Amino acid sequence: MNKGFILKAKMFESGIKVTKDAKKILDKQSDIWLMDDYITCSGITLVYLDEYATVGVNEQSDIELIEVGGELFIKEEDNLIKARVITPPDYMRDEIMIEGKSICVYCNTYTDRLRLQLISGCMNKCKFCNAKEFKYEFNSISGLEQALHIGLSQSKVRHILISSGSARVEDLPKITEMYDYFAKKYSDLDLDIMMTPRGFISYTDSTDYEAYLQHLKSVGISGLSINMELNNEDYLKRFCPEKAIIGQENYLKFLSLAVKIFGKNKVRSLLIVGIEPLEETLKGVEKLAKIGVNPVLSPLFPYGEANFPPKADLFIKAREESEKICERYNIELGPLCKPCAHNTL
Ligand code: SF4
Repeated sequence: MNKGFILKAKMFESGIKVTKDAKKILDKQSDIWLMDDYITCSGITLVYLDEYATVGVNEQSDIELIEVGGELFIKEEDNLIKARVITPPDYMRDEIMIEGKSICVYCNTYTDRLRLQLISGCMNKCKFCNAKEFKYEFNSISGLEQALHIGLSQSKVRHILISSGSARVEDLPKITEMYDYFAKKYSDLDLDIMMTPRGFISYTDSTDYEAYLQHLKSVGISGLSINMELNNEDYLKRFCPEKAIIGQENYLKFLSLAVKIFGKNKVRSLLIVGIEPLEETLKGVEKLAKIGVNPVLSPLFPYGEANFPPKADLFIKAREESEKICERYNIELGPLCKPCAHNTL
């Protein structure tokens, strides 16, 4: 396992201490170098060796960000590794109001991707996710477009991720219309959707899945992220009850059809490392790899009922074993874009 990844896993466990002198450099760079955003995107985003990592700031951490000769370095034991910090574009100060809501309700930029949020909140209540703290509400297309234009004018991004909380079943036609609108109007952009399996009007009626996926492809969506989250059924029922109702069989059917329609390396699925036993995660990795989906490993960011301490050793083992599985099926772990892997293993 490479040195950069081992350090990333350690920082996912313990965070990083930012020394006073390093802080002075960061403060000059931007006053929003430390993001307090949704759980998986909060912290400081470091670039070092060939890694990108968004990690928490922790005064107690043994790993430090220090200043040497006006430059930033990560100090771990006796090792010094040159680093830089990516700061978000200015609009993420969240001072711009659009139609009575702050701009970051509509979009956010993380490294190379802009996340467009069609819905605030979510109809689901996954136990490790803070989406439930926000009111379930659609953002308007006009508000989203204004935010998108500002976001694109301030940051060079390579991907747009349409990532919203899950829509109520009666809102499925509305969210599909919004996918269509953005995919057709912004066909020059690389647009991915993060979503749960569905047809036009149901999450669970799998007879409609293929037609729905063909529709998304035909309007111009380039790729999909369909997150299985957990492999074990009991854990899924406890931590993602609504996803457990859709069921793993439906997830795998939808994912398999997505690969058939969108092609290899266009469909990914995230598994959380740190809730269920590792062997369960690895079974999930194998199920995904076998059908041509890029598995994405997400370290658990402790929250709510899923408040288990993150463990670097577990993250390293998960990555090592998953790489072996993926090699057997000739598929890579996702995301395929390095900067987009800033919060994954
Ligand atoms: S479906 Fe996604 S956004 Fe909604 S609660 Fe679960 S993890 Fe959060």
